[in-house]
Amino acid sequence: MNSVNLSKRLEQVADYVKEGARLADIGSDHAYLPCYLAEKKQISYAVAGEVVKGPYENALKEVRRSGHKETVDVRLGNGLQVIESADQIDTVVIAGMGGALIRSILQDGQDQGRITGQETLILQPNVFEETVRQYLMKNAYKIEAETILEENGKIYEVIKAVPSKEPVTYSKQELLFGPFLGKEKTDIFRKKWAQHLKTDTFILKQIEQSKEPDEKKITQLKEEIGLIKEMIA
Ligand code: SAM
Repeated sequence: MNSVNLSKRLEQVADYVKEGARLADIGSDHAYLPCYLAEKKQISYAVAGEVVKGPYENALKEVRRSGHKETVDVRLGNGLQVIESADQIDTVVIAGMGGALIRSILQDGQDQGRITGQETLILQPNVFEETVRQYLMKNAYKIEAETILEENGKIYEVIKAVPSKEPVTYSKQELLFGPFLGKEKTDIFRKKWAQHLKTDTFILKQIEQSKEPDEKKITQLKEEIGLIKEMIA
């Protein structure tokens, strides 16, 4: 992968970025996404934020190599702390991290006034998508589009959310499976949840057989197993 040939996963993220966006790509290791978007002239400006020095340096190199220094500003820092109100960011991408980390980056950014809640969010959690959707619901973000895709044997979900003037409510099923993905039920979606069902069933058996079974966990797992069976039956 490079900023000319993105992975299928990042291509889907790029597809959700609107023309002329002012983008913050948080956790931007090689800055492939903002450089790709700058090359296509799909964005007017981007901050590429990275908290770790090595990936930050790789991002700097890629921006120099691709000649997009004017459009893509690489900054070293934690989460959304790299953006200032003067950047006028209207789109935030956080991709390739766990759902809990994505939620905490968004929550901290909100608490520290780095985002206003009016930005479009494009999120690609590697795990715990439900945690991300819970954050979106709590903060009146409406999910506008979702995609599930498979690449190199891994299944990824990409979520695009926009601020809503009305409160947003999702059911347990919509939070777990995704309001769009749970309706479309593509083959990849079914594959993901069949795998999940297998894992949950195995863990449940292990817990039930343990000396001091965790009843709360058992209830949670049984509930999730029920929802999955209903969804992919
Ligand atoms: N976003 C790219 C993608 O989707 O291909 C890179 C994903 S990589 C697995 C995750 C990157 O996020 C790493 O480079 C890591 O250093 C960075 N990261 C993790 N926590 C971060 C934080 N709190 N703030 C900024 N970057 C972070």
